[in-house]
Amino acid sequence: MIDTYRHKGLRKKLAQVIAKKGIKNSQVLTAIETIPRHLFIPDNALHKYAYDDKPFPIGAGQTISQPYTVAFQTELLELKSREKVLEIGTGSGYQTAVLLEMGVKVFSIERQKALFDRTKELLPQLGYISKLFYGDGYKGLPSFAPFDKIIVTAGAPYIPEDLLNQLKVGGILIIPVDEGESQRMKKIVKLSDKKFETEDLGLFRFVPLLKEKGRD
Ligand code: SAH
Repeated sequence: MIDTYRHKGLRKKLAQVIAKKGIKNSQVLTAIETIPRHLFIPDNALHKYAYDDKPFPIGAGQTISQPYTVAFQTELLELKSREKVLEIGTGSGYQTAVLLEMGVKVFSIERQKALFDRTKELLPQLGYISKLFYGDGYKGLPSFAPFDKIIVTAGAPYIPEDLLNQLKVGGILIIPVDEGESQRMKKIVKLSDKKFETEDLGLFRFVPLLKEKGRD
């Protein structure tokens, strides 16, 4: 668990790369500059690439998302400090750390036990305190709802009704939707209990949001 000046320099450059790609929120860019992404990648051999703007394998057939995508989704959430945010797909915990750097409270669900166990240990070691759950993201977390914001970090075949229900009125859901190889990034604003406004923000590539165990 070593962070060096070289790593710090590399992530400063990464933040610049991401800014050039269009991310404007300075808090998001500071988070990218602050978080030691290499420590979220379990394979040490990949650490020298950790500050390339690319996804990498994290085990269990999953990936740590590309930093630009993390920044893009985070910016779309329009976070205000102390908001309650639900993340679906904890994975490596990197996106969780970015959200925490934004000053919000994070509840995050992961469906792969091996990833859940590793990230539950890693995040507090790095000083990141959140509520992590092992479970099915399609269902959200009814006992902790409603949430100000919800972010889904895997490609969903459809927009889960439970997540819309668990959003506050005025809240935002950011979710990549489609069953194919790539997804459309959707921003959904909850206007009232039954009324939603959807915006399409372009094409992205995610690992799929998995169905309940035993159903796939
Ligand atoms: N936010 C993560 C991205 C990981 S990739 C990061 O920054 O590293 C997407 C994650 O979603 C994977 O870890 C995958 O196991 C998880 N996932 C897939 N289907 C899920 C589901 N139904 N519920 C919760 N998590 C799920």
